[in-house]
Order: sequence, then C-alpha cells, then structure tokens
Amino acid sequence: MTKRALLVIDMLNDFILPQGSLTVGPAGEEIVPLIAQKIAEFREAGQAVIYICDNHKADDPEFAMFPPHCIAGTPGAEIIGALAPQRGELIIPKRRYSAFFATQLDLCLREMGITELVLVGVCTNICVLYTACDARMRTYDVTVLRDAVASFDPEAHDFALEQMENVLGVEVK
Ligand code: ZN
Repeated sequence: MTKRALLVIDMLNDFILPQGSLTVGPAGEEIVPLIAQKIAEFREAGQAVIYICDNHKADDPEFAMFPPHCIAGTPGAEIIGALAPQRGELIIPKRRYSAFFATQLDLCLREMGITELVLVGVCTNICVLYTACDARMRTYDVTVLRDAVASFDPEAHDFALEQMENVLGVEVK
C-alpha cells in the first residue's frame, strides 16, 4: 500500500480572509469545509497532513508582481483558524510558487516513505499547479481535488486543472 500525504497549500489569512492582502475572494472561502473534512479523514486514517505556507521576506522579489502578502511573522502568514494544524504536523514555509523549491518538502516526504500526494488549497493556477508540476517531475503520484482548490481567476483555474490532468498526469477528481 502506498503512503499518502495531504498537502494543504496556502490556506493562510492573507489569501483566504476577505480582508487578506491578496485575498482569493469567495472561491477561497468556499473550499474551507471540504478541506477541513479531508484533513479529518487523513488524520483518522493515520496519514500525514502537511501544511505548505507562503512565507516571504519583507522585501521579497515576488512583490514586484503581487502586492506584499504572507510576510514572515505577520498574522497574514498564519494558517486560517478553521484549518489549524495539530501538534507534530509538518509545516513547510516557502518563498516561491512550488512547495518543492528550496524547501525541505522532498526530503521530509522521502523520510516518511510517502509516494502519493493529494493537493488542496490555493491558487489552482499558481502554487497548486507548480507544486503538482514539481511533484510529477519527481515521480510522485498526484491527485488534485477539484472542489478543494480555488483561484481568483476562474479561467486560469480551469486551464490549470486541464494542464495538470492532460500534461502532468495528475489525477483530477
Ligand atoms: Zn507569495
């Protein structure tokens, strides 16, 4: 049996709260109950829940493209209260779109013997897409739950799901 992990991507105050500095809007709030349900299912089954968290320097170069958000040490960078991690669950800070870029994620997954990843969170066409891409390049099996990912851009959301399914070999369900 393969070992699975749930990757909860960027469910942070600045992205999900209506007043967040880079809020996804209603689409981001709508996925919270299903993600909460998936987190509960993985915990119940003894499978890993891993939080992937945008965590920027105050002068991060990404802010040339996007308004400042998820600055390390600020409330905006914290996981939303409704999806709070439990003691011992892995939290992976990242400064780029991919959860694999310059982070400990790959090392941690290999140490845990995990070969299959289930992705939920935001944004479908940015951090979910590029994390799925890097996971597939590393030959992890990847599933994306279509009703548990969201974007501020519905067309880009649809395009990203199509690319993940047809080009990356992600199971979209
Ligand atoms: Zn960012």
